[in-house]
Amino acid sequence: MPKRVYFFGGGKAAGKSEMKNLLGGKGANLAEMARLGMPVPAGFTITTGVCTEFYEKGGKLPKELTKEVEKALAGVEAIMGRKFGDPADPLLVSCRSGARKSMPGMMETVLNIGLTSATIPGMVARTNNERFVWDSYRRLIQMYSDVVMEKSAGIEPAEGKGIRQQLEHLMDDLKDSKGYKNDTDLTADDLKELVASYKAKVVEVLGKEFPDEAMEQLWGGVRAVFQSWNGKRAVSYRRIEGIPGEWGTAVNVQAMVFGNMGDTSATGVAFTRNPATGDPRFYGEWLPNAQGEDVVAGTRTPNPLNEATRSSGTEHLPSLEKSMPAVYQELHAIRDRLEKHYRDMQDLEFTIEDGRLWMLQTRVGKRNGPAAVRMAVDMVEERMIKSTEAITRVTPSQLDELLHPILDPKAEKAAPVLAKGLPAGPGGASGQVVFTAADAVKWVEQGKQVILVREETNPEDVEGMRAAVAILTARGGMTSHAALVARGWGKCCIVGAGEMDVDIAGRKFSVGDVTINEGDPISLNGTKGNVYAGELGMVVGSEDNPYFYSFMKICDRLRTLGVRANADTPEDAAKARGFGAQGIGLFRTEHMFYGKGTEEALFKLRKMIHAKDEAERRAALDELFPHVKKDIKGTLKAMEGLPVTIRLLDPPLHEFVPRADDERQKLASSLGLSLDELDARADALHEVNPMMGHRGVRLGVTYPEVTEMQIRAILEAAAELTKEGKKAMPEIMIPVTCDVNELKDQKEIAKRVHAEVAQKFGVKKVAHMFGTMIEIPRAALKADEIAEATEFFSFGTNDLTQMTFGFSRDDVGGFAADYLEKGILPADPFQTLDQSGVGELVKTGIARGRKTKAKLKIGICGEHGGDPDSVTFCHKAGMNYVSCSPYRVPIASLAAAQAAVAEKKAKPAKKAKKAAKKPAKKPAKKAKKILKKPARKIVLKAAKRPVPKPKKKTAKKKGKKKRGRR
Ligand code: PEP
Ligand code: MG
Repeated sequence: MPKRVYFFGGGKAAGKSEMKNLLGGKGANLAEMARLGMPVPAGFTITTGVCTEFYEKGGKLPKELTKEVEKALAGVEAIMGRKFGDPADPLLVSCRSGARKSMPGMMETVLNIGLTSATIPGMVARTNNERFVWDSYRRLIQMYSDVVMEKSAGIEPAEGKGIRQQLEHLMDDLKDSKGYKNDTDLTADDLKELVASYKAKVVEVLGKEFPDEAMEQLWGGVRAVFQSWNGKRAVSYRRIEGIPGEWGTAVNVQAMVFGNMGDTSATGVAFTRNPATGDPRFYGEWLPNAQGEDVVAGTRTPNPLNEATRSSGTEHLPSLEKSMPAVYQELHAIRDRLEKHYRDMQDLEFTIEDGRLWMLQTRVGKRNGPAAVRMAVDMVEERMIKSTEAITRVTPSQLDELLHPILDPKAEKAAPVLAKGLPAGPGGASGQVVFTAADAVKWVEQGKQVILVREETNPEDVEGMRAAVAILTARGGMTSHAALVARGWGKCCIVGAGEMDVDIAGRKFSVGDVTINEGDPISLNGTKGNVYAGELGMVVGSEDNPYFYSFMKICDRLRTLGVRANADTPEDAAKARGFGAQGIGLFRTEHMFYGKGTEEALFKLRKMIHAKDEAERRAALDELFPHVKKDIKGTLKAMEGLPVTIRLLDPPLHEFVPRADDERQKLASSLGLSLDELDARADALHEVNPMMGHRGVRLGVTYPEVTEMQIRAILEAAAELTKEGKKAMPEIMIPVTCDVNELKDQKEIAKRVHAEVAQKFGVKKVAHMFGTMIEIPRAALKADEIAEATEFFSFGTNDLTQMTFGFSRDDVGGFAADYLEKGILPADPFQTLDQSGVGELVKTGIARGRKTKAKLKIGICGEHGGDPDSVTFCHKAGMNYVSCSPYRVPIASLAAAQAAVAEKKAKPAKKAKKAAKKPAKKPAKKAKKILKKPARKIVLKAAKRPVPKPKKKTAKKKGKKKRGRR
């Protein structure tokens, strides 16, 4: 029979932190804290396995659970010295969810279970605080009727008509009638009156009495928590986060401790380091005389935990450090122990009951990208973790957050701050204001960029928060549920902007006399907590983050796969170099004819493509030559000392035909043609299927002089730089190859031009390499022959994907969504390399190419070079480098480092496995005789061998070289 209930408390626990799958994160960590002797209220965890049983039985709990729960409850009673349901001195419990992976605010909680008409007098006698007991009771009714009697019963009330809201209205009415401002103004008698009206309302709305029996309340709570695993919010969140439905949640039943028993009681949420910035100082929020939900619900702006980490909005509020110094010191000591124990930032929940500290939760804290990077770097420096672990602490998308835009500081300086709030999610964003989650989703579907503005953050808003570029709320703290969720997603977010008066129904908000209506643009600086009217410009903000560069150094030291950039201008090349690119893997020559400042070169190119014969073409090429050489030289110079792969002209020539009348006219007169004659020449270039037409190497085969001019430009640029004392490393790359003979043809031209350039510059050799792209399936299959004529391959997986699937890369948008929605393909193959199809061709190409030339240099320059999963594939496939756009370079570097570390980790295990197999298969007679030891012992030894440490010297050497490069 499976064990269904795990007890914790009194310095002991049946579970431990490694048992998250069974006990959920919360339960496993409560058990661990109990084992560590920390002050944890006793309790027990009902396993995730029971959740599975619950659903298998159509919403019924297994019979066997009753006994186990009763036994565990008796254990809690023994430790806490009180009995559940005892009229004289009742034990109260909480009932909380806890999945394997934290799903903040997405499931249900019921507190104060066990308060009934029978136990209330005993509670009043014990606490000597009638008001507190009645306040706890009204909270129980509010939560229980909502979670257990309404949600868990599958009742779906109309917007604003839920039982919780209806009860809240009763409370507001009572406060109004008495002229009270705050909930705390309600007296014990007021609360008694309120409870009576609550109970009547529950019967009126839900048609059932609120249960007055402790055990019935407990089982109702347990069932409701299991039920909430399949609640709307939880299902949405799981879909977004990719959490499988089969995991289920555990239920934690735990003795209640009260933070709302008066001024010596409090409750709070803390992080061992700041989850929004990574600042290593203890950080958190607390509220005196409050229950946990008050802090996270965002209904009261919480106080800062300590003096050092106050933010600009909380100067006037008391810190726990000053208000309760002894408790703060105890909490700080626990913070230190927990962080050391878990070797990671922890997210803590605590309650202080009448001056006594209780720990209610610890878990690895969610953090945004900048914080993740800073923590990883700091923890290596503090020797808490090794660099091999540090790189697993940052996901590629978190790193991406650092490369995300921030508001343009200049524009920001000039703009008046409209409102100030708490900086819950850094970075900047501009967008149109919407006021409901549903509108956010709808507007984004219409292609708009929106900022979701709410009175307070609310877990029900999850879909809208996801769709919006940023979130802004008038109320709530840094640890409100939705702020946590936003941070987890790396979204720009400001909460608690108190000056804002939000009118959801009127679709507007105002600050003073400024009113912002639905659809108006606003801008947020989530790092400072500033709100601006209007749309401010954005810039990328990673450059001045020193932790980012330190982190990249760690990645560079650990990865074995090279990372280059796809760049076509000296500016992009310099940017890529700054991010750590080790060269350029793709310089698309045609890009020098696109965009601003390229008009003259484009005009000359157009003359060339409209030429009627070789003589005219050569004349145009002569004019074009200095432009091409200048551009190539600029990039070679920016990448001095690093390789630059320059791809010869690739697109079908028809792409460059002018469309505008004035341009056509200008070209016609320059060529001495009439417009009709020009059009006739342009029409001759037209192709039915240009992507498979006259492009790439085929152009060079038909017009050798075009290849000749480009190669001459490359080699002369390199020779000139060498003369200037600069190391140029050009790699000439031929595109769209399908046969070795195409390459032989082009190589002849290269050889001839090289000899001419060498002679012109009076040198023996102009250093360069000659290689090809592999972007046609036939090229991958014929790679053994192709390798004979080349020194390197670069997989052009954009075209290779197009040609392998037969999906036009320019038209796939029309049907890709259907393929993904129907699960026909797991991902867009133009974003993530299709490893089982296209990947097989890549592997084949590598194997066949290297069979001919073992040292063949191999890379990838399709978009996949910046996709983390595809980078892992390239590492495993044995490529020398990946090449991607400059802003993806850090992400590719991280993915490459993670792949290298994962491989190293797996290797000793493989060795051990091999060792384990060997003696068992063939008992080595000789060894047996000599050692006279049973094979098993040898096996054990091999299996226990520690992971070999990286050779320090090499690592250092590599690190040094890379540091110099930045
Ligand atoms: C490719 O095909 O993968 C490639 C890099 O070339 P382009 O995208 O320019 O066709
Ligand atoms: Mg291509």
